[in-house]
Amino acid sequence: MDRLRDRVAVVTGGGSGIGLATARRFAAEGAKVVVVDLNPDAGAAAAKEVGGEFVACDVSAEQSVAELFDGVVDRHGRVDIAFNNAGISPPDDDSILTTGLDAWERVNRVNLTSVYLCCKYALPHMQRQGKGSIINTASFVALMGAATSQIAYTASKGGVLAMTRELGVQFAREGIRVNALCPGPVSTPLLQELFAKDPERAARRLVHVPMGRFAEPEEIAAAVAFLASDDASFMTASAFVVDGGITGA
Ligand code: NAD
Repeated sequence: MDRLRDRVAVVTGGGSGIGLATARRFAAEGAKVVVVDLNPDAGAAAAKEVGGEFVACDVSAEQSVAELFDGVVDRHGRVDIAFNNAGISPPDDDSILTTGLDAWERVNRVNLTSVYLCCKYALPHMQRQGKGSIINTASFVALMGAATSQIAYTASKGGVLAMTRELGVQFAREGIRVNALCPGPVSTPLLQELFAKDPERAARRLVHVPMGRFAEPEEIAAAVAFLASDDASFMTASAFVVDGGITGA
């Protein structure tokens, strides 16, 4: 399949997990991939593997994000796809009663403010092109009371979904599609680290997945490639759920 032939695709958090699998999938479908990550070793290795470019960038810092998208357009002439995916998860379950303001602000800055910034600086280029596809990584927790007790994380993902819907509607007549990806639990370093600390937690999570397993990153990447491609030409402002049945149960 070469649905993304010659499309310029930015993948944030492309050094690991869902972002890495998507960078691979985008490249396999013909895209020129720009891997963006805070971690220079992982990001550079991913870019090398997919024959793409690596840009070290903290996606929660406004100037860096502005330079990221302007630089991509300077070097490649356009930006067709922005997969705004970088994110963090707090190491422990935390209720609102124990979540400190620092932790709240940090998680929301990396997970939600980063998506605001990436959309803000990708959109003017896409407007000029009259075409573009933005995919923002939310989570199934944006759609339900997941009882994961990660209150800052859940709120940040709810914000990503609400912002995505608003942008999808605002830019629908300009040829720009904006969709949210809502994965269930995916077997990535982010989740593996959480569960290594607390194996019981993995078992508790699995109970809620009708398919009885966690997703592989490649299963999420396949959905992102679909959203990025013209196969999803009538999809915008949507929550695209890939969760093994959790939210349907
Ligand atoms: P991961 O930890 O494997 O990868 C995240 C990548 O983002 C890392 O390479 C990290 O260096 C990078 N990153 C973190 N902060 C950054 C910043 N400020 N600037 C640039 N890069 C930064 O995680 P993952 O599981 O692949 O998660 C990717 C996204 O998917 C996240 O938004 C996460 O919330 C979301 N998600 C994950 C799951 C899951 O179960 N793994 C489920 C639903 C949603």
